[in-house]
Amino acid sequence: MRLLLEALAELLFPACCLGCGRQLGFFHLPLLCTSCKTEVSPIFPPCCPCCGVPSTDKRCSSCLDHAFAFDQARSLFIYQEPIKSLILHLKFSGSLAGLSSFAALAQEVDAAALFHEPDLILPVPLHIRRLRWRGFNQSLLLAKACFPAWKEKIQPDLLQRHRATVPQTQLDGAARRSNLEGAFSISKPQVVRGRRVLLTDDVFTTGSTLHECAKVLREAGAAEIAAFTVARTLK
Ligand SMILES: [Zn+2]
Ligand SMILES: [Zn+2]
Repeated sequence: MRLLLEALAELLFPACCLGCGRQLGFFHLPLLCTSCKTEVSPIFPPCCPCCGVPSTDKRCSSCLDHAFAFDQARSLFIYQEPIKSLILHLKFSGSLAGLSSFAALAQEVDAAALFHEPDLILPVPLHIRRLRWRGFNQSLLLAKACFPAWKEKIQPDLLQRHRATVPQTQLDGAARRSNLEGAFSISKPQVVRGRRVLLTDDVFTTGSTLHECAKVLREAGAAEIAAFTVARTLK
């Protein structure tokens, strides 16, 4: 119902830039004015082959210190304005315009070209309480928006978060890892065994959430684990 009302509102009211709020004289996606659009920073190679941070094509110092359980993580954009605002619009108001804007941006930079074709796409799950409160899982919506050709591979219920955790943004690195310890599990490990898996999430910050998800996939025998986020912070 909310999505329907929102779609109606978008038709009735003129579009605004999702970055700065300026009224736009057009309604085409992404909903960004010319100056916000030029601020969007795609991540280009070279980057760390493991975590994807823009650097050289050698492993970055933090990947040398602490190996992640996933094989490679890739992000489309640097987490700064207007991407930050787009993600907030999507996460906290479930904005359809925010989601369709990401779909348009992901198509421009060809998100699928960053990965081998996976067998399964697993969105990072929310705990059931947060899912009920928010009404949707942004990682699932982003997976559908960014990989339309691989829609059939998305399995939203395979990876489960069975423990509520403190929001990661409130914690530092070490606390982030212990906060997530044992938070995820796989409902049918046999489905994952020997498969190429692509995890999806909104933002890569320290990588601990994706690392914890990758650990349980690794234990279940996944053959290859890649991780996709629309944005990542720089160290
Ligand atoms: Zn703008
Ligand atoms: Zn790295």
